[in-house]
Amino acid sequence: MSDINSDLILFNELVEVLISEESKNPVAERIDSHKLYESLDLSLNDSPMIGDEFKKVLKDVIVSTPKTATNLFFNQLFGGRQSKAVLGDLLAVMLNNSMYTYKVAGPQVGIEQEIIRKSCDLVGYGSQSNGTFPTGGSMSNYMALVMARDSKDPECRFNGISKSLVIYTSEASHYSNAKNASFAGIGKNNIRYISTDDEGRMIPEKLEEQIIDDIDNGFIPTYVNATAGTTVLGAFDPIDMIADIADKYKVWLHVDGAYSGSVIFSAKNKHLLKGIHRSNSFSYNAHKMLGTPMTCSIILVNDKKQLHDSFSNEADYLYQTDGDDFNLGKTSFQCGRRNDALKFWTLWKSVGTKGLEQMIDHQFELAKIAKDYVRNNSDYTLYSFDDSISICFNYKNIDPVTLCTALYEHQATVVGFGSFKKSTFIRLVTINANNTKKDILNFFKVLEDFVANSPELVTEEMISSELI
Ligand SMILES: *Cc1c(COP(=O)(O)O)cnc(C)c1O
Repeated sequence: MSDINSDLILFNELVEVLISEESKNPVAERIDSHKLYESLDLSLNDSPMIGDEFKKVLKDVIVSTPKTATNLFFNQLFGGRQSKAVLGDLLAVMLNNSMYTYKVAGPQVGIEQEIIRKSCDLVGYGSQSNGTFPTGGSMSNYMALVMARDSKDPECRFNGISKSLVIYTSEASHYSNAKNASFAGIGKNNIRYISTDDEGRMIPEKLEEQIIDDIDNGFIPTYVNATAGTTVLGAFDPIDMIADIADKYKVWLHVDGAYSGSVIFSAKNKHLLKGIHRSNSFSYNAHKMLGTPMTCSIILVNDKKQLHDSFSNEADYLYQTDGDDFNLGKTSFQCGRRNDALKFWTLWKSVGTKGLEQMIDHQFELAKIAKDYVRNNSDYTLYSFDDSISICFNYKNIDPVTLCTALYEHQATVVGFGSFKKSTFIRLVTINANNTKKDILNFFKVLEDFVANSPELVTEEMISSELI
């Protein structure tokens, strides 16, 4: 019908449209959701659409799709664009392997294993460690929970859960923990949410108290999820202290590093994960701090037998050649699996481990710039703490939900809000390693100019409190 060469030419043309849009309109023109289907031709019809008409629809879609690679996108825990990683991902699409067997993926298996091996070394896991690339951080957490469950109740893989398993995570941890408890048959009501200190870190003493209480009541403590970079504040749970407790009560320790676990690459910031080598499993998202395209999540396990015990199943039609070490389907959740490794490998290979370290350190420097700006300006209130790339603040007592929504609706900048212990605030995430000091200062200028031109945002309540 059409050949790949002409589509690649079209692809280049469309990418030029995208890149020019990104500089002209860093925040894309927004289409109201209730007007979406009338604004764009998204319909699928009996007759084909080709040529210029087809091209035009694609351009329209590109123009109005939110731009996540620009210097005004701060909404999520990803952003920017690492071009060598994009290159790898484009190649992965063209190669279109599936990662389950060596027969089908060949050297791509080695590429994935090399990333896993190096990552395990950085974590300090031993010679029996291994891992896999799940579909994201939520799935990484799920796989960890399944391994923990199976190691406490091995029969459950055949007969279903027969024991009263309970699991632990902090009240500031990611919401996937709740969903995963339900999927794993443990149940949302069997999660114990452990309180956090003033800076959003799990309080180890509270964890131990809860474990003792559960044992006294006939429950079986099974799994502790510690977070390296909580989703809102970017806080690091004290892994070493939690590991002492996990050891003592023989509970699986997983470290959810989806957001900030990539500090394993930074000599300066690695101390935030002190004790990480004592965990049973650890996951990090290269699509967050390391800027690879969505999604690129890695789970590592200290003992690869656990991964194998929970995720392998014989399948003669599939596993026909080579050993288990090369047939990665034996340790993955899915059967067919996208190649998420190549994009991270092309990035890593091209900048070296040192280059990844610089990306991480740069994000912390940008965070410091933002934090200093907020701290030194009396119109702002700061809610975040050191050692985080989430800068949480409010401006002139303006309701953060209203302000974030207005900024987005007027295409000023895209930034989100979050809450912690009764406070709600704007959360600026300095995760785009392409940004510079100028981009961060520009963000504040955009915000201040926007407020200056929107007097309706400044509420009477705020004015009266200022008068006092
Ligand atoms: C983003 C995040 C996740 C979820 O990762 P996905 O890849 O979005 O599924 C889990 N935990 C934490 C702490 C996160 O920040």
